[in-house]
Amino acid sequence: MKSVAHEIAAKITGKVKLQEPLKNHTSFRIGGPADLYVEVHNVKELVFVLSLLQQKGIPWFILGNGTNLLVHDQGYRGTAIRLQGAFKEINVNGLMLEAGAAVPLTVLAQRANSQGLSGLTFACGIPGTVGGAVVMNAGAHGRSISDVLVDVQILDSSLELHTYQASELGLNYRKSKISPSEIICFARFQLEVGDKIELERQSRDYLEFRRNRQPRQPNAGSIFKNPPGTTAGSLIEAAGLKGYRVGGAMISDIHANFIVNCQQATAQDVMTLIMIVREKVARQFGIELELEVRLLGY
Ligand SMILES: Cc1cc2nc3c(=O)[nH]c(=O)nc-3n(C[C@H](O)[C@H](O)[C@H](O)COP(=O)(O)OP(=O)(O)OC[C@H]3O[C@@H](n4cnc5c(N)ncnc54)[C@H](O)[C@@H]3O)c2cc1C
Repeated sequence: MKSVAHEIAAKITGKVKLQEPLKNHTSFRIGGPADLYVEVHNVKELVFVLSLLQQKGIPWFILGNGTNLLVHDQGYRGTAIRLQGAFKEINVNGLMLEAGAAVPLTVLAQRANSQGLSGLTFACGIPGTVGGAVVMNAGAHGRSISDVLVDVQILDSSLELHTYQASELGLNYRKSKISPSEIICFARFQLEVGDKIELERQSRDYLEFRRNRQPRQPNAGSIFKNPPGTTAGSLIEAAGLKGYRVGGAMISDIHANFIVNCQQATAQDVMTLIMIVREKVARQFGIELELEVRLLGY
């Protein structure tokens, strides 16, 4: 891996690190090291890194803001690739916002507000990147990315950029059919004319709503998807698991669909809680909870 790291570092401008602890890159603050961690600043660097990794048979994945990830305590035997530079740019084109995949969703929503563009206020408190939000079809307050996404530019496994319409991505409740070998590089969003003051007021309300209903300790957002007709949080609470603890991890006593890292939790602590929740909810309510959080290194 050392020689691959040297080869990459000689060709690109971004950081290249060996054995980088992924807990430093996840909102859970949990996760062992990635064998290699690489930051790329443009499509050319990305293509170079991917072709080298493909040639060497080294697995890789794209790390967004790590806000929907549970990484194994032993880490990831491959390369974590983070998009930077050109992938962090935003362009406004009339009612259209064009954003790189590494733009934080919160920054994109603020930019829309400041331009008087409506349609993205729901995203003002979602801590992921544009890329992660498209893959997950992130949403809140009854709206989701699919409501405003026009198209995306994806780098596929043959290392070519293709444009896909939003309707081709299989976007549904917290899922898409974008495969792990496809990398979202850029996305375009169609917005509407809005009133800046009203957009800012609505954003403040949404942020206040989160402050009151979501825990402050490190977490990865909702652990489970809501089953049809109910919420995962209400089922977990009804199963009597609010505040239940394993090691350093706890089912939040503020919102039962959040697991919080309250004292140096391990990924194993979180997995044990996940299994306990699933088993109890299935036994009591006959409902199989599906994970929303993505697992890495398992
Ligand atoms: C406090 C908190 C609140 C949250 N609230 C919400 C909410 O209200 N609604 C909601 O939907 N989610 C919420 N989340 C979850 C999370 O923010 C979203 O799922 C977000 O979309 C994940 O983006 P990310 O950049 O952090 O992705 P990561 O967690 O880094 O990655 C998630 C997946 O996307 C893939 N990925 C990331 N970028 C790319 C790319 N460019 N190309 C291809 N694949 C990529 C990764 O490989 C991984 O499989 C919350 C999380 C936290 C911690």
